[in-house]
Amino acid sequence: MDRNLKVNLIKVPAHGDDIYNIQADSLAKDAHSVLQSTVSPLAFCYTPCLLTFNSLPIDMNIRHFFRSIADARALLSFCSLARFTALGSPSLFDWAGIHFCLSQNKGFASHKNGRPEFWIFCIKLLLDMLPTLSTLQQRKPYLYSPDWLCPQCNSAPEDLNHLWTCPYILPDLNPCLTHHSEIIKFRDSCLSSFLSLKPLDITFQTGFPALDCWNYESPSPSCLWLTRGLLPAHLTAFLNQHFPLSVIYKYISPLLNDFQVALYGEIWLCRNVLFHAWEESQGISAASKLRGPSINSSSIATSSQNHNSSLASVSQDSWISWISSSIIQGGSWISHLDFLRRLTVQPLRISFW
Ligand SMILES: [Zn+2]
Repeated sequence: MDRNLKVNLIKVPAHGDDIYNIQADSLAKDAHSVLQSTVSPLAFCYTPCLLTFNSLPIDMNIRHFFRSIADARALLSFCSLARFTALGSPSLFDWAGIHFCLSQNKGFASHKNGRPEFWIFCIKLLLDMLPTLSTLQQRKPYLYSPDWLCPQCNSAPEDLNHLWTCPYILPDLNPCLTHHSEIIKFRDSCLSSFLSLKPLDITFQTGFPALDCWNYESPSPSCLWLTRGLLPAHLTAFLNQHFPLSVIYKYISPLLNDFQVALYGEIWLCRNVLFHAWEESQGISAASKLRGPSINSSSIATSSQNHNSSLASVSQDSWISWISSSIIQGGSWISHLDFLRRLTVQPLRISFW
């Protein structure tokens, strides 16, 4: 500023062998692999520029900083989906834990290990997008009559929660009892994992199994959330009295994965075999599913619009600041932003002087 410098910005094609572009790329690559600040303290003496966030100087690698902010904002948008807020206050869920478990699951998305279907199941389960009869009735009312109940038990609509509570009993399919026993297995593995870390008193040993999320009998809403992969906040809050969040997530994540593998193999896949046989008996073939509606398409368009509205984007409600602080308190992905721990995530402001 003192020197009255004039800067002209010129855009050059990428990989066009522009000498300055190559130099800039190489500097950027070097800087990216360094965790410390990209600007040395000495540089501040010479450059009239300081990046700040909420009036605090950013004394770390600016690329990592931007990525963390982008992660935090993406997670905020995710937590704010109407399908989650419809369940209750966002404070009922441990979003940092949910984020951790999802990020651990990423490996399943690759085709190399041959389990992309399970990964898709987990995501659809979390988002309540599995093709249950209730979902199909909304998507394709011309094929699936709105009056139809669960084809197995014929006692209730087949929505997501009904998958685990269906009372139908076959030698190789017993959703309700399978869910009970898998919840117990999940609960007991959690208990023994945490007890193996350090000796804990009887209050812990009796308090942990009594948490609402293990109540499979009715089952409780939080038990159904946990089944979906939505970690209830009271579960991690209880454990957090004895363990840091990073340890809790590290131990719960693989156990939740095992639990969902069992749900996938023992309930969902078996249910699909029966469901497809039932569809055939109703004259619903793969070809008729592809054909789409033949008449009355206007009413169908309206209903699919209604369904999509639950995917509403972020609403800037007052509780967003609550989530922000909850996110910032935990989750290894943002742990290097130590100085931000006491702040809420605000729209990024960069000031120069
Ligand atoms: Zn049923």
